[in-house]
Amino acid sequence: MLGVGVLPKTYAGQGDCSIARALEIVGERWTLLILRDAFFGVRRFNAFHAHLDAPRTVLSARLQSLVDTGLLERRADPQHAGRSLYDLTPAGLALWPAVYALGAWGARFACGDEGPRVFFRHELCGRPLGDTARCETCGRVPDPSEVIIGPLNPAIPPARRDPVALGLARQHRLLDQLPPVEAGIG
Ligand SMILES: [Zn+2]
Repeated sequence: MLGVGVLPKTYAGQGDCSIARALEIVGERWTLLILRDAFFGVRRFNAFHAHLDAPRTVLSARLQSLVDTGLLERRADPQHAGRSLYDLTPAGLALWPAVYALGAWGARFACGDEGPRVFFRHELCGRPLGDTARCETCGRVPDPSEVIIGPLNPAIPPARRDPVALGLARQHRLLDQLPPVEAGIG
């Protein structure tokens, strides 16, 4: 029997199915959560690690894979010599409506009675996004840099206490650095 570690990365026999091709890039465990955190503003390995609890070797491999497939770009961290920052590329940013819609689906069908814990709104219009990331007021799908995320009920403490989770407990613009600079996590 094949172990998980040797499962093939490609969906042989799926021909030119574009969903299969996309899943070959984003379908591995942790990958979409790394991208989610990148949209939230996470850029540093240690911050991804603090928020995701993925084993460091797995996280490192997933980040490398996302760089290799052109969804993330790695550059030197100007504040920490020898370390890297990971930025979403245009191809990575283009996944925003898919990542958002997956979350909206999860809130509706996979979270029981809990429902969503955060809101997303178009900063310009001040109105929430619908299930497909489209602004209910202007009818556009705003770029992530135009979207504000925040807790639906700020009185409920975050389930996690890591610096990224604490940053998410306050509303901020997507892609703005998380945790914020003042949190001091490298
Ligand atoms: Zn709008």
